[in-house]
Amino acid sequence: KETLLEVEDLHTYFYLGDKVAKAVDGVDLNVHKGETVAIVGESGSGKSITSLSIMRLIPQPPGKIVSGSVKLEGRDLLALSDKEMTNVRGDDIAMIFQEPMTSLNPVYTVGEQIAEMLLRHKKVKTKKEGKAKAVELLQQVGFPRAEETVKEHPHQLSGGMRQRVMIAMAMSCDPKLLIADEPTTALDVTIQAQILELMQSVKEKYHSSILMITHDLGVVAEMADRILVMYGGQIVENTSKYKLFTDAKHPYTEGLLASMPTIEEDKERLESISGTVPPADNFPQGCRFAPRCQYAMEACTKEVPALREVEPGHYVRCILYDENQGGTAHDS
Ligand code: SF4
Ligand code: MG
Repeated sequence: KETLLEVEDLHTYFYLGDKVAKAVDGVDLNVHKGETVAIVGESGSGKSITSLSIMRLIPQPPGKIVSGSVKLEGRDLLALSDKEMTNVRGDDIAMIFQEPMTSLNPVYTVGEQIAEMLLRHKKVKTKKEGKAKAVELLQQVGFPRAEETVKEHPHQLSGGMRQRVMIAMAMSCDPKLLIADEPTTALDVTIQAQILELMQSVKEKYHSSILMITHDLGVVAEMADRILVMYGGQIVENTSKYKLFTDAKHPYTEGLLASMPTIEEDKERLESISGTVPPADNFPQGCRFAPRCQYAMEACTKEVPALREVEPGHYVRCILYDENQGGTAHDS
């Protein structure tokens, strides 16, 4: 498959006083054309900072992309001028967030905002043309009365409807990649499923790829092709969705799977991983998951384990799977 996005050894740090928070600390990831890749991890794992780094939306200072490369179809985004990058945003990569209200302007109608966006990206020539196109776009994302919806203001819409508007705006410029950061976290379960379905269908219609950021494995259980698990600013497991749900190897992934709600269980009985994500300005020595890992041994605290390909296409950062360390893979 053809590679669309290639991130190599990305490091994004935040300089706060005399502390350095290594929010993203050596991330590698690929998104192929037509693929949906999910980055999963608890809050504070560095997944949002990874996506903001790809978009070059890191507040600088205190943030800084220290090293690494981000290539879209071979073009290094980190080497582009600010102006070139502004064109990439929207045209080539679009992003949707958890709370659409923060990206929508409360003062203007939905139609005006979509028209504005289309004008800015030169997809239409006049505001009138933009408004007509807005109706069409809203119909595509499931608004039955789109002629009315364009005249409404964001606050008149429900959270799910606002997210549909954001998806319409994101897709209006036919981007190659849609980055979605917790797009359904603020929505109730039924609406959540509808939005995920919509994302999947627009992805297919526009032949784009999706990079999905979520703390909830349940959200990506349906739509992701590949899942990357992130912890302490690093990818700790990278494999196909099927492998992740049937043969997860990293102890942290096991913990995430164990804390997933199932239909039979009620939420109270869930096992969750004890302890908290380490702060990015004070990672433990060695494996960053060691303080929470039930398999931790002395060797784990020596150095950060490498991300190794333990089976074709299945990468794990854990010494249990590191032959050279003499560790033995556990079965569970
Ligand atoms: Fe646990 Fe050690 Fe593996 Fe880290 S390297 S996940 S502490 S077993
Ligand atoms: Mg986040």
